[in-house]
Amino acid sequence: MHEDIREVLFSQSQIQEKVTELGQRLTEDYKDLNPLCICVLKGAAPFMSDLVRAIDTHLEMDYMAVSSYGNSTKSSGVVRIIKDLDTTVEGRHVIVVEDIIDSGLTLNYLLDLLRRRNAASVKVVTLLDKPGRRTTGLKPDYCGFEVPDEFVVGYGLDYAEKYRNLPYIGILKKEIYGDAG
Ligand code: 5GP
Ligand code: MG
Ligand code: MG
Repeated sequence: MHEDIREVLFSQSQIQEKVTELGQRLTEDYKDLNPLCICVLKGAAPFMSDLVRAIDTHLEMDYMAVSSYGNSTKSSGVVRIIKDLDTTVEGRHVIVVEDIIDSGLTLNYLLDLLRRRNAASVKVVTLLDKPGRRTTGLKPDYCGFEVPDEFVVGYGLDYAEKYRNLPYIGILKKEIYGDAG
């Protein structure tokens, strides 16, 4: 275990098992719908790449990068699009792939945008959910694990761009991020 990690919440094999299960559910629900899976960069990239390989039906992939103004451990709800989609979502069945939902502000903005662009349907799959911190009514359609109100890193999730490459998800030691959270 990395020395900056206080506790491992989900091991590599627990994550893999969960991703397989989510993939099976999505395979059934999206059979013949040719869904468009939208990865919200950068945090959801490892999850997206494992998830699509667990989905056994035709699908397409696209990527979006947004930045939520605020400090590095909290978002403000004011969202800026850094990279937009290459694909038009009009008439498509969209699956937004997220790493974690915290307040829900970032995702709320994104879902609004996709609906305004006339997607046929928009659903959310998130690996992690922190329901205790929600300030919006948002609920994911598919969720891997619920997590406590702690700052977690690994498997795509960063602190100051670090720890994304950890193969597990763990709680970052408080002394690493100080009072920022
Ligand atoms: P929200 O807009 O839902 O408050 O924030 C969502 C974004 O905040 C996530 O996509 C992620 O970038 C960041 N975030 C929220 N909680 C955590 C956490 O515990 N760990 C990390 N690394 N990022 C988080
Ligand atoms: Mg995210
Ligand atoms: Mg981040």
